[in-house]
Amino acid sequence: QHSPDSLADTIAPRILRGERRALARAITLIESGRADHRAQAVALLDRLKDAGRSALRVGLSGTPGVGKSTFIESFGMMLTAQGKRVAVLAVDPSSARSGGSILGDKTRMERLSRDPNAFIRPSPSQTQLGGVARRTREAVMLCEAAGFDLVLIETVGVGQSETVVAEMSDLFLLLMAPAGGDELQGVKRGIMEIADMIVVNKADGALKSTATRTCADYAGALRLLRKRPQDPDEFPKAIMVSAVEEMGLQAAWDDMQLLAEWRRASGHWATRRAAQAQYWFEEEVRQGLLARLTTDPVARARLAELGAQVAKGKALPGVAADEMLNWLAR
Ligand code: GDP
Repeated sequence: QHSPDSLADTIAPRILRGERRALARAITLIESGRADHRAQAVALLDRLKDAGRSALRVGLSGTPGVGKSTFIESFGMMLTAQGKRVAVLAVDPSSARSGGSILGDKTRMERLSRDPNAFIRPSPSQTQLGGVARRTREAVMLCEAAGFDLVLIETVGVGQSETVVAEMSDLFLLLMAPAGGDELQGVKRGIMEIADMIVVNKADGALKSTATRTCADYAGALRLLRKRPQDPDEFPKAIMVSAVEEMGLQAAWDDMQLLAEWRRASGHWATRRAAQAQYWFEEEVRQGLLARLTTDPVARARLAELGAQVAKGKALPGVAADEMLNWLAR
């Protein structure tokens, strides 16, 4: 019914005015697998790409139970009370595998979801992390065009989801619970390396002293990592908060702003965003090729045919692969 441009004509100005319903509708369009929806989404994104608005994109990861939704709600409410507009998007690879979602629960962040200055979108249940990644990345753009100051991208530490989220964030936060020394070893080194801040939550009540020790342990572990010449000396850093008691949240925000400002001033910010755009372009090409191999029946038949020849010893794997690639590129 809608031509790609006519829909963009109606929705784009509403998004630019910050209307949350238009934003939600646009994200639904992005999540759709239909070709006509894709054409409309592309027209819309193209219309909005020069809006010249830029939010702070913050990735946040943590295992289930560390307090992500509690933290995001307290932190988000603090910022909206200061007049900031906050969007929350989720990347949940578990929803792809099991159909069930750890992050998609509608009852999470109830207060924040009622706040007119907040926008919360649960993870889409796509079959592949690649599909979720594209949706989230494009949804971030839409949130920026809608004038949000902060876009929080939440994920659970499963599979590649942390890397995916870090690749679309300006800053990356790792939320941790107070824990004994042994558990600390369990944090993957790769995750430590992408974290700009380790935020130890639940620093309250009976957990406070454990949290203090945990925080010191992480601070020590972070000092062992390679220095980042683009950042102030104290980063990456470990801090303590209590999402429930709303303690340490302003300090966390001050740290995020300090790091963001520093990177903006040094030019690292723009360099990083440019590198991310390039990364996603290449990733889309890779995903597109893979999709053709798995969904295009002609390509699959060709792959099976060449595979059979290799199995029979009639063709070498490398030679047959070259033939397949040439066929794809024809
Ligand atoms: P998520 O799975 O990471 O989103 O974690 P939730 O936000 O659902 O929190 C998991 C549990 O930890 C809940 O029972 C929360 O009440 C509790 N929790 C979250 N933040 C804090 C905190 O700052 N202090 C304490 N003591 N408990 C917390």
